[in-house]
Amino acid sequence: MRIALLYPELLGTYGDGGNALVLQQRWKRRGHRATIIEVNLSDSIPAADIYLLGGGEDGPQRLAADTLRKMKFAKTIKSGAHVLAVCAGLQILGESFAVEGDTQFDGLGLVDAVTTRGAVRRVGNMALAVSGKVLVGFENHGGVTSLGSGVEPLGSMLKGFGNDGVVDGFRTEQIWATYAHGPLLALNPWFADHILSTVTGQELDPLESIADTLYQRRLGALGL
Ligand code: GLN
Repeated sequence: MRIALLYPELLGTYGDGGNALVLQQRWKRRGHRATIIEVNLSDSIPAADIYLLGGGEDGPQRLAADTLRKMKFAKTIKSGAHVLAVCAGLQILGESFAVEGDTQFDGLGLVDAVTTRGAVRRVGNMALAVSGKVLVGFENHGGVTSLGSGVEPLGSMLKGFGNDGVVDGFRTEQIWATYAHGPLLALNPWFADHILSTVTGQELDPLESIADTLYQRRLGALGL
């Protein structure tokens, strides 16, 4: 399996690059091979099974969006690969997002989602219900995201703000997008396995690790 980590020098707040390591390790522990390809600004987009986009500050986020457009990332996705996008990554995949004040900047237009500047920054622990399970994470963003009527959110808020205080992220056949940092997949081992099994089309053998204990403790700490 090929895991492409896009622009970690621009999009990697809160250790989001750790999502690549978690996917790689959980796949390897099932006896398979997984390669992480770090993609830098001057690189063309390599072939991969999943592309990871992390969070970022406004300036780097804008540069990442420009570069992804130049490198025709949207075309790569339309040809069938999967994407996990966190925070700035989520905003970039939409129609437009606010940067440096209230200026709306063009996103990649892969999903009907618009991010505008909220009145306050949203910082803190968050949790959302996703298909009967709980996804936990940490959010820090100024953007408020509205989804078009046909767009499915990733989940509904149990704690924190997410897109708009009600739901978080979005989900399409190929994309998982969320405001949750953590890194997300280190905090939520069940979600890492859900992604692996969707991307590879294989059922995975169960895998117990310290990550499961820490996940349960975090749920407890959040009163969930
Ligand atoms: N710059 C964006 C915002 O503040 C995204 C922040 C992030 O990725 N943590 O809304």
